[in-house]
Amino acid sequence: MRSKLLVATTNAGKLSEIREMLAGVSVALETLGDRRHLRTLTPPEECGTTFAENARIKALYYESASRIPTLAEDSGLEIDALGGAPGIHSARFGGVQSTYPGKFALLYQRLAGVPEAQRTARFVCAVALVEQGTVRFEARGTLEGRIAPAPCGSGGFGYDPIFFYPPFGCTMAEAGPRKAEVSHRAKAFAQLRLHLLRTEG
Ligand code: IMP
Repeated sequence: MRSKLLVATTNAGKLSEIREMLAGVSVALETLGDRRHLRTLTPPEECGTTFAENARIKALYYESASRIPTLAEDSGLEIDALGGAPGIHSARFGGVQSTYPGKFALLYQRLAGVPEAQRTARFVCAVALVEQGTVRFEARGTLEGRIAPAPCGSGGFGYDPIFFYPPFGCTMAEAGPRKAEVSHRAKAFAQLRLHLLRTEG
């Protein structure tokens, strides 16, 4: 029986989405901010080469530090015309200090000359659940779209303003609550949610 689950992220945008997606699962969600020794712990080096590897690295690291069942996710944006960049480097793209408008400008610079139809992209989310030092569950979700001609919208977070989702006819920053119905994170967490419900004990 697990009574607590540590969500190993400090990203407020991700955290609020995750809280909603796991609503109804009977565990108390803790975050890295809730415990001083975790808050001040140096984060692990995300040295994996895939989203899945980085999610495992984070979940194993924080479970070992907390001894609480831990879930971690790694996510980002892959742009086909840029060979999958920014990919696992999405958060650090353009330098750790760079702002999202700065990241967008850099991406548009690199996409100059690429026709709109070839600006296909996807959001990817990998999630890993670690209990007692072992990876117990992993899942992946993706959301296919393309890079918008210009940033649009003020909702969501991160790359949402430049991610155009054809079925909605708008960017993810304009999608409002509909993002939660289709997103890469929603798809990965729907699988995790099922696993948690099945193994609630
Ligand atoms: P991580 O903390 O290394 O997993 O960083 C993931 C980064 O990918 C975030 O900081 C965002 O830049 C980007 N990202 C992941 N999911 C989303 C999303 O749902 N919308 C917009 N950007 C996202």
